[in-house]
Amino acid sequence: MSNNVRASPTDSQSSFRLKFGITGRFFPIKLMSPLEKKAQQPDLNILADNSIESFVSYLKDNKCREIVVMTGAGISTSAGIPERVAGIEDSYIVEAHGSFASAKCVGKLRDPILLENSVDSDSDDSFDLEKVEYRACGKEYSQDWVKQRVFDNQIPECTVCEGIVKPNITFFGEALPNRFHAMASRDFISADALIVIGTSLKVQPFASLINKVRQKIPRLLINMETVGIENSPHRGFDFTGETQEYRRDARFIGTADAGCEKLAEMLGLGEKLRILVDEEHSKIDVSNNARNQDTSDLKITVRDVADDDELGVSLASLKL
Ligand SMILES: [Zn+2]
Repeated sequence: MSNNVRASPTDSQSSFRLKFGITGRFFPIKLMSPLEKKAQQPDLNILADNSIESFVSYLKDNKCREIVVMTGAGISTSAGIPERVAGIEDSYIVEAHGSFASAKCVGKLRDPILLENSVDSDSDDSFDLEKVEYRACGKEYSQDWVKQRVFDNQIPECTVCEGIVKPNITFFGEALPNRFHAMASRDFISADALIVIGTSLKVQPFASLINKVRQKIPRLLINMETVGIENSPHRGFDFTGETQEYRRDARFIGTADAGCEKLAEMLGLGEKLRILVDEEHSKIDVSNNARNQDTSDLKITVRDVADDDELGVSLASLKL
């Protein structure tokens, strides 16, 4: 082949031939679509198709152990119970936008931290207020503590600094909890599979988390409608295999309950799930009954005492 090469410094075409050792032949590069590529390279198909069955086959075949589950409000819409009430341990829950499960004082402590030059030199016992800093209080309170006050039409005020006690939910414009960032970067990288349930995937940065699992990791969406499609080779879901290199996304369109029941059934965990649901529902019923009992007892006590004019105590103080 090299005998055919006629190299000449003035002929750019010859120079090309010399460099590549190709004589007068042109090889057009055929651009294949991701689907065509997948047809030729079966390794690109992490899942056989976009069904929940394919996803479950993958879980079984690959003995997946670390599965991250991203959930939105949709999971309690059909079940009627949030994950904390369902008995999932705290260590397994990372709340992106917080919850009412705990609360914290947002007030400031009264003892000032004296900054440099904060004492007014003209007067020994007065501070220049602009140069004084107060530490955040941050005292933690339980959900029951806050609930009690809210139901009594009181503003939850901190017992230490009298600041407002706010549930640990993230309002628009506020930073997400530290635990969210810490766990997101660790758990998603090491995940063997990802399941997304009951979310519109519209609120950032939560929505972008689906891109954090590794490229060959399969993902399952259980939702009332298809969400999270960005028609990008690197971002969002690709349920048709037409835009991304690997075919790894499956979906189950329906309620969170139906999807989870089907998932459990196919994994051989159906009976276990039914027993768990029954047990946890019984616990909720017992706790609700106890709470109703407490409330009715309280009402009787309050009414009885309030009817007694001589005592003259206010209803509000009794409820405390
Ligand atoms: Zn406080």
